[in-house]
Amino acid sequence: MNKIPDGFTAKYGESILINSGEELDIGSDDYISWHLLNRARDASNIAFAKAGHTALRVSGAYLTGIEPRAFAYWSPTVPQDYVIACTRGTTEVIRRTLVNAEFRSLLPQTSFALSRLHVEDLTALAVSLTLATILYHEVAHVTRFHLPYLTECKETDPSSLPAMRGLCEADADKLCSYLIAPDLLAQAKGIHEALKLTESVESVLREVLILYAVALHLWFTFFNQRALPKASIYPHPLIRSTRITIGAVDNMQTAAIMEPCGIDRVFFILNGLDTVERSALRTGCVAQHSFDLATELNAINTRFEKIEHTLDPALLEVRSRWGAPSAD
Ligand SMILES: [Zn+2]
Repeated sequence: MNKIPDGFTAKYGESILINSGEELDIGSDDYISWHLLNRARDASNIAFAKAGHTALRVSGAYLTGIEPRAFAYWSPTVPQDYVIACTRGTTEVIRRTLVNAEFRSLLPQTSFALSRLHVEDLTALAVSLTLATILYHEVAHVTRFHLPYLTECKETDPSSLPAMRGLCEADADKLCSYLIAPDLLAQAKGIHEALKLTESVESVLREVLILYAVALHLWFTFFNQRALPKASIYPHPLIRSTRITIGAVDNMQTAAIMEPCGIDRVFFILNGLDTVERSALRTGCVAQHSFDLATELNAINTRFEKIEHTLDPALLEVRSRWGAPSAD
């Protein structure tokens, strides 16, 4: 069931429906987008159902635009309907960004698993993991009730809105790192199996995680550059990609898999720092806001504290108001 509310269609236009019976006319980017969008929608519906919000429903809208964009929609006029949307251009732009930055050459020279994948498979893997993260971030905005919360903030205390949006963004990244964890593990297991590798699944997972961190970083850098040339509601791309990757590792139900954790984290961050410098050199991304590790880490830690002390109780209240609207 995918009932897109009329208010959404009036604002953003008709969405594309992909019928899997028409496979021949559909490009692979459409397949990736459609598949991941449906998964994001299903994940949101399952989360609502599990939390007892049985009146709420989430649909997925695949829009024709070529501008890269993914977002969540909700309106107080039809409060039971949520939409997760992305444009057709999103996957294409992610792909172009990764390929232009020659992301494959940013992977470790020691790679024994990913280096054996076909170039197109490796690109598709990086593209899917990036888009899945973007869409899971939107799942978080929906299932954590950020949309009614921010709508209320806008009405009651507009001056607080930028700070509250920043909190919701950090909160969405936190939840999306939880949602993406099984995907990363499944990809590592799949590659291990497909290539009949004798090395451990854990060592394949490390490569998948590095690919993931590099891809996210390049995407956030690109997106930041286009839309957010100054310090914004999002942390610096390096911090954002590292936090999400580390969060995903923390959420893997395999405690022993990443031992020794401390050392791994340091390597990730160093890899990230190295990558940011190399990709900055290549793309000449002068529009990026200046980066200070201590300031960025302090800012994100403050946000995480505020999520616990301010946002969590506020969202509980919002849930009690909007979690069970009467159906239209
Ligand atoms: Zn967001």
